[in-house]
Amino acid sequence: MVATRCTLGAPEVRCRDSGAGGAPGNWGRTGRTPPVIRDNRRMAGGRVLVVGSVNVDLVVAAPRLPVPGQTVTGGDVARYQGGKGGNQATAAARLGATVAFVGAVGADDMGSEARSALAAEGVDIAGVVVTDRPTGVALIVVDPCAENLIVVAPGANGEVHAPHVTAALGRLAPGPRDVVLVCREIPPDGVRAALEIGREAGAITILNPAPADDLDADTLALADVLTPNETELALLVGGGPAGDDPESAARNLLGSRTLAGPRLTDRGPAAREPAVVVTLGAAGALIVRVGGAAVSAPAPTVHPVDTTGAGDTFNGALAAGLADGLDLAGAVHRAVAAAAFSTTRPGAREGMPTRAELEGFLGGT
Ligand code: ADP
Repeated sequence: MVATRCTLGAPEVRCRDSGAGGAPGNWGRTGRTPPVIRDNRRMAGGRVLVVGSVNVDLVVAAPRLPVPGQTVTGGDVARYQGGKGGNQATAAARLGATVAFVGAVGADDMGSEARSALAAEGVDIAGVVVTDRPTGVALIVVDPCAENLIVVAPGANGEVHAPHVTAALGRLAPGPRDVVLVCREIPPDGVRAALEIGREAGAITILNPAPADDLDADTLALADVLTPNETELALLVGGGPAGDDPESAARNLLGSRTLAGPRLTDRGPAAREPAVVVTLGAAGALIVRVGGAAVSAPAPTVHPVDTTGAGDTFNGALAAGLADGLDLAGAVHRAVAAAAFSTTRPGAREGMPTRAELEGFLGGT
């Protein structure tokens, strides 16, 4: 990580560069209204069924981060819609996929906001249960160099257990043309139930293992496609040198998970062959499959202003592409471009492209 200097007056604060796959960027922005969705025509293919978390991010810009016991006066609080599941559902919907979200919020204002924001993107929120725990919140303090302190209070996300997932996905009745996209930040039994149901239905299952802890081999084996970033991949293979050799690390992971569960290659198109797709920040992504050569999907060169939500954009776009009938390489190509595009605007959901924007971007690269 490169050290950069950032002069803030006395005392001088020394900042770390957020780097290519980096830390949240422009958190200090003022509140903004969500962009108008100009192109939300729904695609004719299968659906994207997202199971995961939804949070409200409360962000305060401060002149410096407090040390333990210290109080620092910051600016006005800003609220942003967040949570990996909500973000990924939004990314897929912006690209024209028919999307349903399964998750949980609290019976509070933030829960209503979170549901409204997803509904405004055209996401079916019938699978969002209102619980007696508060809506998930991320409390974020950010300094002028975009270094941050974050505490997440999962709240209602902690209620996304197997019975709720089973009931909600049961109503959605996934089929072989659908994609079930599962992220973490919900209990492991909820993750597992979602993957089991998706797989049972013949849907393509994607697990975004972020964070990568607390995932057993049997759960990993239920995913047709795993989408770790380099850090998560290293954790999944036991802290190995994923950064030096992501292909080998991905092959190790693929080998162990293939052994842990039945092979999926017997039951469908090539898109369902087990794969690990490692996201590599500015370098794009690497597709690794059993028995085949690794395929690189380089990211277009952009001038990133905020990499917050890049991984979520990637996962939502990947699911949208697969639901639209693209093969894995084609879907990853589009996902890499969508995620690169998202880094050129501040904010997580704010940067996610519409389908028309992505087409224009791909046409110009
Ligand atoms: P995460 O955000 O989950 O840590 P990555 O950093 O690997 O994941 O980024 C996810 C995707 O976002 C990448 O595969 C790439 O498509 C895109 N991306 C991230 N950073 C950049 C960048 N600096 N330039 C272009 N694309 C980027």
